[in-house]
Amino acid sequence: MTAPYNFSAGPAMLPRAVLERAQEELRSWRGSGISVMEISHRDPAFVQMAQKAEQDLRALMAIPENYQVLFMHGGGRGQFTAVPQNIAAANDTVDYLDTGVWSEFAIREAGKFVAKVNVVGGAIDTAKGRAIAPTETWALSPNAAYFHYCPNETVDGVALHQIPQHPSAPLVADMSSSILSEPLAVEKFGVLYAGAQKNIGPSGFAIAIVRDDLLGRAQANTSTIMDYTVQAKERSMYNTPNTWAWYLSGLVFEWLQEQGGVAAMGQKNQRKADLLYNYIDSSDYYRNPVHPDYRSKMNVPFLLADATRDDAFLAAAEQQGLLGLKGHRFVGGMRASIYNAMPLEGVVALVDFMREFEQKHT
Ligand code: PMP
Repeated sequence: MTAPYNFSAGPAMLPRAVLERAQEELRSWRGSGISVMEISHRDPAFVQMAQKAEQDLRALMAIPENYQVLFMHGGGRGQFTAVPQNIAAANDTVDYLDTGVWSEFAIREAGKFVAKVNVVGGAIDTAKGRAIAPTETWALSPNAAYFHYCPNETVDGVALHQIPQHPSAPLVADMSSSILSEPLAVEKFGVLYAGAQKNIGPSGFAIAIVRDDLLGRAQANTSTIMDYTVQAKERSMYNTPNTWAWYLSGLVFEWLQEQGGVAAMGQKNQRKADLLYNYIDSSDYYRNPVHPDYRSKMNVPFLLADATRDDAFLAAAEQQGLLGLKGHRFVGGMRASIYNAMPLEGVVALVDFMREFEQKHT
């Protein structure tokens, strides 16, 4: 694959093969003469496609039978509201780990629906860069209704590579920017969710994977479309689902299977991340602000030694077809998001460009 390479954090690059197939099928899905967007979600052909997408995701992630896979509305932030309403009672305490920007948004949202959000600990600054406080320092509540964390902070580029443990509460994870990027022990979680626009498909869509015993607990005034129990019972078709996003996600799942599944993805993603971090670490011109043990394999923020050159860097990168490298507006600098769809060649092209830029400006 050749440039352009899109390093956007999300909506992010989709596999080119998936876009080509969607293009081929756009006006006439399965020879019907109409688009998949124009048929009823109750049409047997659509239902069959939707169920296959679910089965493919179950196979890819080895999701145990006692979990529901829900295709929800409202992206990642929709799940920030869905989780407390579905899993906790209004007078409950919930535990949250605060590792960065997205954890903080989740914490604020949870506070609207429960009596107490206990922030157990979170990101810390160390001599080797941004890290996460050691687990033994976390102030976990004995009576938490659940324990929420974000394994991969998309803005900060901070990741927790081990699955944390809570002595009593089910684990809930925001996997918006890390789902399907490597093998995962789903059975260790009560709820996993992800906004779709990074490793799955179009934005506005979300997948929630919910253990059966956590259903039936929704607060009485939970909005029905966000109610896990209703959506589980209705096979995610309580109201009209985002049919286009569901279809496209299904194509991505098929593509992932063709690539060798999440194990193969995990190896490829490790190679991409190693290549980029090794180059950044070897250079005096670029710097990644995260402690090596807590670096994200999906989102790699980096700073130029001379920040007055940021705009020139971005403009020159864009000219070479290296797109979407501007850092999040909260933190500035640069960020390369290297999700599943980013080929190794894209990272090689980025490193070559960074090296040339460094040589020209030092
Ligand atoms: N969680 C994480 C980790 C994210 O990266 C994002 C979006 N970048 C969100 C939640 C919010 O997702 P959305 O914009 O779909 O609401």
